[in-house]
Amino acid sequence: MISFDRFKDGKRYALTFSYDDGCAQDRRLVELFNKYGMKCTFNFYSKYLCNPESRGIHPEEVRPLFVDHGHEIACHAHSHPHLERMLIKDQYDELIIDRINLEKASGTIIRGLAYPFGTYNNDTFTAMDTASIVYGRTVKATNAFTLPENFKEWHPTTHHNECETAVRRFIYNVEKAPWRAGGVLYIWGHAYEFDNEKSPVQWEKFEEILSELQKRTYDIWCATNIEIYDYVNAQKQIRRSADGKTFYNPTDIDVWVAKDDEPICIGAGKTVVID
Ligand SMILES: [Zn+2]
Repeated sequence: MISFDRFKDGKRYALTFSYDDGCAQDRRLVELFNKYGMKCTFNFYSKYLCNPESRGIHPEEVRPLFVDHGHEIACHAHSHPHLERMLIKDQYDELIIDRINLEKASGTIIRGLAYPFGTYNNDTFTAMDTASIVYGRTVKATNAFTLPENFKEWHPTTHHNECETAVRRFIYNVEKAPWRAGGVLYIWGHAYEFDNEKSPVQWEKFEEILSELQKRTYDIWCATNIEIYDYVNAQKQIRRSADGKTFYNPTDIDVWVAKDDEPICIGAGKTVVID
């Protein structure tokens, strides 16, 4: 049987992070991600990013600190509003202005969004389509490792303050429960929370968690949000012959499947016969 349950390089599991607001502590956080080979999506709102008075991340830092190390920059809406309280045209403006500013700073094409305050409505989805934004991250913890059915409601596994149980379960699955068919551990937060003495997960604890996860990267793909989105979409586009043996990958992303638990790559643009 062929199963479509593998990520890049045939790995069963994926790990992604999402940090909001572009605060000063992002400078320290990105160093940690780099040290442990993790990938993160940083969600900036450009009214703050482009304010020369702010203590947060500045536009000229976006490429050298984040983009050049393989991290993703995504929208957080220009002025960090409650999108669901706005008219659809104003929601669109918030998204497109953010995209324009972030694309200028990052030199990348921005396609992701973290909803400010985690809130949105149906008009937000329409505004996202018009602004060519393909996914939206909420703040609703699932405590699960499942991929979203609808990427515009991409619920994370957990906030970092409550992540320890989920991390332990995830590591258990990676090491001891291969039959659980993999999944994604998705942790989100704000880097300034690591400075809060009342937070259960501060800098040192978070570094320990990253170090424990890094030891299992033999079966964990560390990816940004958009890399996971693009991979899953490439997987959905694989064409299969009527007899079920020939697979064609029309995308520009290598896709892995498994046969009898053995990973097989269907390379970008390639046809592969699996007998
Ligand atoms: Zn925010």
